[in-house]
Amino acid sequence: MTVSLAPRIAAKRSADELRALAEEANLALGSLTDHEASPAEVVRWVAENFAPEATAVACSMADAALPHLVAEQLPGVDVLFLDTGYHFAETYATRDEVQRALDVRIVDITPEQTVAEQDAEFGAKLFERDPGLCCARRKVAPLQEALTGYELWFTGVRRDEAPTRTNTPLVTWDERNGLIKVNPVASWSFDDLMEYAADHKAPVNLLVGFGYPSIGCEPCTKPVAPGEDPRSGRWAGLSKTECGLHE
Ligand code: SF4
Repeated sequence: MTVSLAPRIAAKRSADELRALAEEANLALGSLTDHEASPAEVVRWVAENFAPEATAVACSMADAALPHLVAEQLPGVDVLFLDTGYHFAETYATRDEVQRALDVRIVDITPEQTVAEQDAEFGAKLFERDPGLCCARRKVAPLQEALTGYELWFTGVRRDEAPTRTNTPLVTWDERNGLIKVNPVASWSFDDLMEYAADHKAPVNLLVGFGYPSIGCEPCTKPVAPGEDPRSGRWAGLSKTECGLHE
């Protein structure tokens, strides 16, 4: 069962306190150095400094390696799923399987408008004519609102995914959303991710095995050939490469 609830934190530390904590963490964890902390060590730092209910994991439901990794030390953690209304059936099935298999609480984050309401206001297939606006309305704004109640969010951003992600630190202050952003698997490759998921029996979206290493909304995700850039199937044929969540 999934829920659409406000986060559970009672009192959030100030932006200055959290910003200072993020800076300390990057130094302590050796972010972007030769002695960088492992993903499990990064999660341990979070578990030692934050209440579980102050943290959330963003998950696209391509795989559940990150939710598994975090739930090992923060059981019951909120896993935020951006339910844009445009996902593959396999993605919804993965979400349900994650809820069954892991000690997490899935929180469905829904846009202000249904797809039908958006179509009525902006015309059908906004994703074809203005994907930036579509992502802003269906992903960026709803996530921003959902994150207000947390002190920290985990993402699955990896440095090898795109040139824009090469210098991703382990921990950073997320100015736009006003909380700490933690990228525990920044140093991992796609194969590392799949190996972790297999070793720990974490659910993986069936589409991954059919040429979809990166999975977003159905209209904007195409399979990629072996050896191709994993994210080249996202908004294929357009200059857009990011949905705006990690800019
Ligand atoms: Fe819209 Fe495509 Fe962005 Fe999904 S990925 S919100 S369908 S533009």
